[in-house]
Amino acid sequence: MGEGAGAPFLSVRNLSKSFGIVKVLNDVSLDVHKGEVVVLLGRSGSGKSTVLRCIAGLEPIDGGDITLQGMTARKPSDLHGRVGFVFQQFNLFPHLTALENVALGLKWVKKMERSAARKLAEAALGDVGLGEHLNKKPANLSGGQQQRVAIARSVVMEPQVMLFDEATSALDRELVAEVLVAIRRLAEQGMTMLLVTHELHFAEKVADRIIFMHQGEIVENGPTDQVLSNPANPNFRKFLGALK
Ligand code: ADP
Ligand code: MG
Repeated sequence: MGEGAGAPFLSVRNLSKSFGIVKVLNDVSLDVHKGEVVVLLGRSGSGKSTVLRCIAGLEPIDGGDITLQGMTARKPSDLHGRVGFVFQQFNLFPHLTALENVALGLKWVKKMERSAARKLAEAALGDVGLGEHLNKKPANLSGGQQQRVAIARSVVMEPQVMLFDEATSALDRELVAEVLVAIRRLAEQGMTMLLVTHELHFAEKVADRIIFMHQGEIVENGPTDQVLSNPANPNFRKFLGALK
């Protein structure tokens, strides 16, 4: 599953992106193999979210290629539906129950029948430990439970890769673990994932590979054990030092 095991599942080549005259991504290239879990680290403003947003087709790119399972995106919407995205903010529909929030995309995007959609949604919520909370609305769920609904809502659409952008950063400390457990479970089920997180202990346990970004460029990229025990880039060393 590591580097070099066949063609990459997700491949980003020479990605560049500016906002106005400010270049925020400079020649970013990375691969994620099937079933691999890659964690993207970097200081605030280094370009992590922009990388994920470009992969998900939420931002037009200025240059480079994004290829998922052999298909290179020609326009941002080409990868819609094939990439799942979980953000810091859960953005659930407040007037819908957990079950309805998860079933919605199956009904409207996948045109699934109501009963079939509900069945899949129920299973997806069970997988994130919310089998007892199907009929609760977001206001009656904790932040950690809401984020798990958001994960189920994304996973139920069967994306080929899941992106997580600081999925636990908006949560109170005591709710972080339950969300990390759900993410870890997905990894163990073989989901291909690219995650931005500040939870270094979690990254250490779950990531096959760690990539560190600095000022819009990838400056470190290697197997988790190797880069954490022997970081080569001075900015990455400083970053790790500040976390200890
Ligand atoms: P990170 O997720 O690592 O904190 P971002 O990808 O959010 O970094 O941001 C990278 C840089 O791009 C930052 O300087 C940020 O201010 C800038 N940026 C991000 N989104 C926009 C936007 N929509 N318009 C202008 N500048 C942006
Ligand atoms: Mg960000």
